[in-house]
Amino acid sequence: MTKVLITGAGIAGPAAAIALHKAGIRAEIAEARAPEADAGAFLTLTANGIDALQAVDAAQPVLDASFPATRMRVFDPEGKLLADSPLGRDHPCPRTITRTALSQALRQEAARRGIPVRYATRLTTAAAAPGRGVTAAFADGSQAQADLLIGADGIRSPVRTLISPAAPSPRYTGLMIACGYADDGPPAAETGAYDMCYGTRGFFGYTTAPDTRNWWFARIPAPELTPAEAAAPPATWRQRLAAAFSDDRTPAATLIQATSHITVTSAYDIPTLPNWHNGSMIVIGDAAHAASPSTTQGASMALEDSVALAQCLRDIPAIPDALGHFEHLRRDRAERVVQSGAGVENPVPPGPGSPPRRGNPPGWLYSHHIDWNSRTRDTDGSRPTC
Ligand SMILES: Cc1cc2nc3c(=O)[nH]c(=O)nc-3n(C[C@H](O)[C@H](O)[C@H](O)COP(=O)(O)OP(=O)(O)OC[C@H]3O[C@@H](n4cnc5c(N)ncnc54)[C@H](O)[C@@H]3O)c2cc1C
Repeated sequence: MTKVLITGAGIAGPAAAIALHKAGIRAEIAEARAPEADAGAFLTLTANGIDALQAVDAAQPVLDASFPATRMRVFDPEGKLLADSPLGRDHPCPRTITRTALSQALRQEAARRGIPVRYATRLTTAAAAPGRGVTAAFADGSQAQADLLIGADGIRSPVRTLISPAAPSPRYTGLMIACGYADDGPPAAETGAYDMCYGTRGFFGYTTAPDTRNWWFARIPAPELTPAEAAAPPATWRQRLAAAFSDDRTPAATLIQATSHITVTSAYDIPTLPNWHNGSMIVIGDAAHAASPSTTQGASMALEDSVALAQCLRDIPAIPDALGHFEHLRRDRAERVVQSGAGVENPVPPGPGSPPRRGNPPGWLYSHHIDWNSRTRDTDGSRPTC
């Protein structure tokens, strides 16, 4: 029976373990961080991400830990309303959730299905031997043996470098992303709705959570942050970010001032890799195709990957063939998403007659559906069918 080792218990890792379990494949997870570590930002999961979870009967815990984004209003820097649209007409509403809560919900679901997760266990290296699978080594001195190593280890993935030592490093997108939870300030149109505000120096969006706090993010074109800048005290960031929105007649500066803890990061992406796998190791999620946070797709794409990979391993007996087929299925879609978020958005709204901006994701993105019962190959094993 195939045994799979997964490194990373963020989003792709536990989701892949859950999907493999449903496929009857044994998996265990090694995660570098402690179970209670905070993953910072909040995110939206779109219909395609929820669909992937539904395929493996794992959507409910995530729905329970999130709230629906019901409506979106867009404002210009003067505070003038540019658009007001309900969400969830063509596809189910996106769900808003913290990264930590999403990861925890998936890890708890994995634990409920009996999947072992080892925490504080950082992969340092791995080597494949013909006929003997992969031996992985960890910083605590332990080792693990498996038929397949799945690197669900994020944008700085060590497994990506093991597969392709010449793989490109993550690319800075030119955007600084900040986020926080304001105890005060004007609420959005309704609970769960997003108010999106163009500003003269950056873009600001927020939603009012069921607990009445305002969850906000800001995207500001800026040089790449040094680690010391990113770790500056909250008061420094409050001042700097509020100043960036001080000329705008939107609630941005007020909400920033009402926030005690602010997370700030530079945004990176990975447009393409030479290989996603080498026959016994593979990368999925951000490790393979990190997209700028402005796509709001990284987590959903990680969930799609996780389920699709389990289906390939379920249906195609030879592991290298299954990995090759998975990459064939997923690469174009994933790289198209990364491409859609490349470059820096102009914070100023489009004027009359300007070409439409990227913004409303087309149907190809949200309507992606995974049918768990469909086979990834015809029964004669020769022809891919999806
Ligand atoms: C500010 C911000 C906003 C975002 N907003 C959205 C959004 O709205 N919608 C959306 O879909 N996506 C969003 N994203 C992107 C999303 O968070 C990622 O795409 C998603 O987390 C990818 O999941 P993953 O499992 O591939 O990687 P991660 O979630 O990064 O998990 C990787 C895991 O691997 C572990 N790890 C790393 N190295 C090792 C090692 N050597 N050994 C063992 N474990 C290791 C890490 O500790 C981590 O737990 C946002 C990202 C950011 C930064």
